[in-house]
Amino acid sequence: MSEIKVIPLGAGQDVGRSCILVQIGGKNVMLDCGMHMGFNDERRFPDFSFIASEGPVTSFVDCVIISHFHLDHCGALPYLTEMVGYTGPIYMTHPTKAIAPILLEDMRKIAVERKGEGNFFFTSQMIKDCMKKVTAVTLHQSLMVDNQLEIKAYYAGHVLGAAMFRVTVGSQSIVYTGDYNMTPDRHLGAAWIDKCRPDILITESTYATTIRDSKRCRERDFLKKVTECVDRGGKVLIPVFALGRAQELCILLDTHWERMNLKIPIYFAVGLTEKANNYYKMFITWTNQNIKKTFVQRNMFDFKHIKPFEKAFTDNPGPMIVLAAPGMLHAGLSLQLFKKWAPNENNMVIMPGFCVIGTVGHKILNGAKQIEFENQFESRQVIDVKMSVEYMSFSAHADAKGIMQLIQYCEPRNVLLVHGEAAKMEFLKEKIKQEFNLECYMPANGETCSVTTPYKIPVDVSLSLLKAENVKYNNFPPHPKRSRVLQGVLVMRDTSLCLMDVDEACKEAGINRHIIRFTSTVRLEDPSPPFKTAEKLVRLLEERLPGWSVVLNDGTISVESVLVKVEGSEDEQKNVYVSWTNQDEELGSNILEILQSIGQ
Ligand SMILES: [Zn+2]
Repeated sequence: MSEIKVIPLGAGQDVGRSCILVQIGGKNVMLDCGMHMGFNDERRFPDFSFIASEGPVTSFVDCVIISHFHLDHCGALPYLTEMVGYTGPIYMTHPTKAIAPILLEDMRKIAVERKGEGNFFFTSQMIKDCMKKVTAVTLHQSLMVDNQLEIKAYYAGHVLGAAMFRVTVGSQSIVYTGDYNMTPDRHLGAAWIDKCRPDILITESTYATTIRDSKRCRERDFLKKVTECVDRGGKVLIPVFALGRAQELCILLDTHWERMNLKIPIYFAVGLTEKANNYYKMFITWTNQNIKKTFVQRNMFDFKHIKPFEKAFTDNPGPMIVLAAPGMLHAGLSLQLFKKWAPNENNMVIMPGFCVIGTVGHKILNGAKQIEFENQFESRQVIDVKMSVEYMSFSAHADAKGIMQLIQYCEPRNVLLVHGEAAKMEFLKEKIKQEFNLECYMPANGETCSVTTPYKIPVDVSLSLLKAENVKYNNFPPHPKRSRVLQGVLVMRDTSLCLMDVDEACKEAGINRHIIRFTSTVRLEDPSPPFKTAEKLVRLLEERLPGWSVVLNDGTISVESVLVKVEGSEDEQKNVYVSWTNQDEELGSNILEILQSIGQ
């Protein structure tokens, strides 16, 4: 038995800072390299000293794979390559490679300019230098990192360019899902993977205990809440990520406003709008059928009822709806608007996705009625939260049903949960054990999980042997329970093994072949001359063994190496001798059975 080891440096029983180390077939792979949005100190980055306490980490990591552009999956990458000094290969999909540097730069600006962390953070140049080292991959393309380590990307839904990755070394393999969505939404398709039967499926479990009601219900509910609030003159704040949910909710609102002929202003202030649109255009093949179709007639991201937000609008009287980044209210414009609007009970904030611990989003979702702010530039500030706080899961993560579905698709031997909260994981773990009878793990950060895998040795088979076996198999009558047995000689050359035909192997080794024959006798009551009996047997065998050539020569019947001879005089019981070689064991036993069945 050999084993695969998995150690989360981040996202072990936690959401945020995804970074999972996998040791497979002697190779070390880092899956994602994210940052934690809830921390401003060293806890925001994974602890790379775990890999190598001092000196470069490159010799301990064979490659880094990034699943998608969200910062909790790629935010620490420039830190790893430019500050920790990793110089090995990095892989991500084309859209991720295009979009990740924009989000990284956006986040860097907020961190450095607002929090004054210039000295501890990576620079713009570092982001650029880091991205130059990235190799972009295409979906379903098998890519060899070296001559043993193979990776392959699958569509994950979630956000533009998100991918699940299969990592294979020899006969061992794992699948890492990153974040994924098993149901298509308004602009992306659903995640898909083939029946690749990995040794371990490492899956996110953000919504491990949630089974979401239908998307239509959620959307109806969302529109109802929004319109109720603006009808009573309130302002609605929807914090969103720049890419993904923002586009999804805009499409939803715009369509509704058009249908209902509504006039209340909707603003979009997630930044990067221009760039986001361009990327959707550039990577249109990654979006869903609906967008691909309508895109020909009109740009799905040019909205009729949604206009860009300007700072001056913040104090406008009267109702409005603003979609603003970032999504967890931890910084930026969404947080500024929140501070302004929170004290008014007419207003509403709708959190459309999961918020990590430490963010304002997480606090208000847990019912906080007062939020305290303190930082370098502003004095201490207390905000009363009187506005209504709503949570609606529009987040493009798989729910419990989706996770179970993925397990069904790819049929793993083990499941390992990451990117979720411990209590919820526990629940899902039991469910997986019960329903699929699979071992399920949920290691915490820094904890090693070892999974043993069956030891497999790949063997080549000579073509002539395969062809001969095929002919033999097809010549027997079909039988659902008959196993296919391939007999040959196992020859070892250097480190590879080959199964060969006996004659072929003898020739190669320069040795003579000796044959063992088995003989058995059957007694037959047939009062006719022996040659007549033999002729009868030929007809019987031809009838029972269609496809085989049955030859009668000089009183002896032969079928391949099986020989049948009738002895005894007329009017007497006959002895029928059957003899076969071990190579034709199956055929020999079959003929013996046919002969034995005659008298019965
Ligand atoms: Zn994500």
